[in-house]
Amino acid sequence: ESMFKVGFLSDVYQERSVGPESISKVITRFPPEPNGFLHIGHSKAIAINFGFAKYHGGECYLRFDDTNPAGEKKEYDDSIEDTVRWLGFKPVKITHSSDNFDRLYALAEALIEKGGAYVCHCTKSDIVDQRGGKKGEKPRYACSHRSRPIAESMCEFRAMRDGKYKPGEAALRMKQNLEDGNPQMWDVFAYRIPAKKKDEEDEEDEEEIRGNDAKETETNGVESDELQYAGPHYRTGNKWKIYPTYDFTHCLCDSFESITHSLCTTEFELSRVSYEWLNNQLDVYRPMQREYGRLSVSGTILSKRKIHELVKNKYVRARDDPRLYTLPALRRRGVPPGAILSFVNELGVTKAVTNIEVKRFETSVRRYLEVTVPRLMLVLDPVKVVIDNLPDDHLEMVELPFSKDPAMGVHTIPFTKTVYIERSDFREVDSPDYFRLAPGKTVGLMKAPFPITATSFEKDPSTGHISLIHATYEKPADGSAPKKPKSFIHWVASSPEHHSPIKAEVRIINPLFKSDNPAAHPDGFLKDINPDSEELFLNAMIETGFEEIRKRAPWPAEAGEKAVADQATMNEEHANSDASTVPGSAATGDGDSVTTAGPETVRFQGMRMGYFCVDKESGAERLVLNRIVSLKEDTGK
Ligand code: ATP
Ligand code: MG
Ligand code: MG
Repeated sequence: ESMFKVGFLSDVYQERSVGPESISKVITRFPPEPNGFLHIGHSKAIAINFGFAKYHGGECYLRFDDTNPAGEKKEYDDSIEDTVRWLGFKPVKITHSSDNFDRLYALAEALIEKGGAYVCHCTKSDIVDQRGGKKGEKPRYACSHRSRPIAESMCEFRAMRDGKYKPGEAALRMKQNLEDGNPQMWDVFAYRIPAKKKDEEDEEDEEEIRGNDAKETETNGVESDELQYAGPHYRTGNKWKIYPTYDFTHCLCDSFESITHSLCTTEFELSRVSYEWLNNQLDVYRPMQREYGRLSVSGTILSKRKIHELVKNKYVRARDDPRLYTLPALRRRGVPPGAILSFVNELGVTKAVTNIEVKRFETSVRRYLEVTVPRLMLVLDPVKVVIDNLPDDHLEMVELPFSKDPAMGVHTIPFTKTVYIERSDFREVDSPDYFRLAPGKTVGLMKAPFPITATSFEKDPSTGHISLIHATYEKPADGSAPKKPKSFIHWVASSPEHHSPIKAEVRIINPLFKSDNPAAHPDGFLKDINPDSEELFLNAMIETGFEEIRKRAPWPAEAGEKAVADQATMNEEHANSDASTVPGSAATGDGDSVTTAGPETVRFQGMRMGYFCVDKESGAERLVLNRIVSLKEDTGK
């Protein structure tokens, strides 16, 4: 509820446009273009649209805004839907702008018929000039096509449809008001003939805040006459050569779907006028457009083209590499959907653009994980310790709570003569300000009955690394209580019959970039890459409680969720959001939903080491873990 105490949204609700009588409830939509993965910024748009509808007892649709075949793919469509469901939201309907291509085309003809649009053949630079030049320093004027007869525009529009024109040779422009101070009224495009991109992956996107939409609004954006038609469209194939623009499509699809509140980001504020203009011209139901500030995240890059460059040059392993901030990447990294929602919730909703450092996001994730995931002992870089005064077959079973929260339960692990500890928890030479293990020094092994004291160590002559530490068990012979050691370290027992330790390969994720604004690097963003963005620990060891955690994932059922309920009250569905619903999955094969627990839902706190989850590269023979975040900011631990 906290999210909706913010004035902006309740004002928007109060203002609610009165639609046709059939619209008795709030209807919103989340309208992504299926031209890439969703990123962290989109989670705000998702939370607002689904959250607003839910809060007011309404419905939210997922609408794919698929009006540009260049760059749009079924693969992205599927990924986006999957991500929305993973976040815990269930679209009441899934629609596509392309469902309405016939209807939109008919309305374009209707607009021409009433003198509201004309076919224009001006080039990009002609149009810039007509709009007063690049800086708006010159007077604006109409082109000759603006005053052509209605019948001629109609004929030419049909010719565009029928393939008489190549990309850029003709476009349909709305006949708005060149006198208006708002550029969105300077005869923006309604239909254009998109060109095939030279290299689809090389497209320049997201550089301008409004992305392709803005460019389309300005002009055709194509000059050369050697261009090929874009397409085929992943849903309508080769049926169309002309495609409606954002400015023509969005307000009409909102209208067709009886959207009550069309919520969008503030770059579209100027577009509100053309949104209303077109619905009024065509005399259709007019939803209410209102704007909120984008969520922009610094210290990373979200541009699809740049992410592609990172993958191509092998700086990251895939587009969902855990070092990236697309939502599939955050999912793979192990960030719980509830943590993303509570982060967005914390930011609240205002008209101002929210600029957040990735560090602040991590703080929020850390806070969420602290109360929701179980704890285990994980040794990243193990060194062997032999407790010489224990018999070879020494075995004690030690009980460990999964969390400070007793509701999470306990598990039991073996304690044996040979254990592994973290290499960094041992020093060859002791000093008074050092409290962990060193020759002559005593430390506690977390939850083990008695402490140990190091006696000596051995080195591997070839590497010079310590290969073995000798220790003694400090169990008082007279049965008295042991002295409480100054510090406790984590450990894992060597007990083959208990399958301990479990071996793992751990990837520590560090910032991918050195600066806060990689895009601003004078020699290009690739020069800002942090060479240590990933640290590998190939011989990590986990205690056996991991098997239980894996069986019980997604974890936890209730306990932890209750603890975060105060922070993340945006929607009640997210309590289950780890249980992503995959329609038509292999398990049922009939399109029914099935509940899956992906590898990324196996999450735990490695005591003293951070929060970890299973990476999707894991298999029967290989366990790969990602460190989601460190335990504390900046400690590297
Ligand atoms: P990008 O260029 O970053 O992919 P976009 O606007 O092209 O953004 P769309 O697929 O059109 O991406 O976005 C779908 C919805 O999400 C739109 O309503 C858009 O305004 C919203 N959105 C996109 N980026 C953000 C962001 N950073 N913060 C909040 N909302 C966003
Ligand atoms: Mg867009
Ligand atoms: Mg986009």
